[in-house]
Amino acid sequence: MYLKQITIHGFKSFADKANLEFLPPDASGRLPTIGIVGPNGSGKSNVADAVRWVLGEQSVKVVRGKKSEDVIFAGSGKRARSSVAEVELTVVNDDRRIPIDSEEVTVSRRLYRDGESEYLLNHKITRLMDIQMMLAKASFGKEGYSVIGQGQIDAILTASPEERKTFFDEATGVRPLQIKKDQAL
Ligand code: ATP
Repeated sequence: MYLKQITIHGFKSFADKANLEFLPPDASGRLPTIGIVGPNGSGKSNVADAVRWVLGEQSVKVVRGKKSEDVIFAGSGKRARSSVAEVELTVVNDDRRIPIDSEEVTVSRRLYRDGESEYLLNHKITRLMDIQMMLAKASFGKEGYSVIGQGQIDAILTASPEERKTFFDEATGVRPLQIKKDQAL
């Protein structure tokens, strides 16, 4: 499984639709390391925020906002603000690590200014819970080690054993069971 593409439209500084395509593994199966470079404030961290957000992040603070609509492009001197933020993330599911019989899996999230929000799985509207469960089964989600933010390495190293457990839970694959338990409770 590898990240193929992220499309960001109306999210934070991405007023225009931006399509980021990532390189596939090389002939020996090694995944490339990809860097995004740009001057200060050009929106590099907004890309990381977009990844967390589309994977279902519920904390506005984690994506560096104060209220949920802060993720929608707020407008500039030359451009009107956007009415919707949309992020779409596509992974190639060649090894079926995501337990869906689909070669590619696309997860999308939209947030409208009126507060309405939508989650989509392979372009069909779905529930956040189903996306969370699917990603947990693939050990891939907004928590754990698939997205490591600035300063988070320090946080992991200095974390208490209880806090550090979240990372191990994702690695050992018990997250789906925890989600089921929470739902049942
Ligand atoms: P640094 O290298 O300093 O960490 P960066 O390249 O990671 O910077 P970001 O923090 O991703 O930059 O981007 C910050 C920019 O995004 C700021 O210019 C900010 O005004 C803009 N921005 C954030 N939210 C919105 C929004 N809702 N609408 C428009 N612009 C936004």
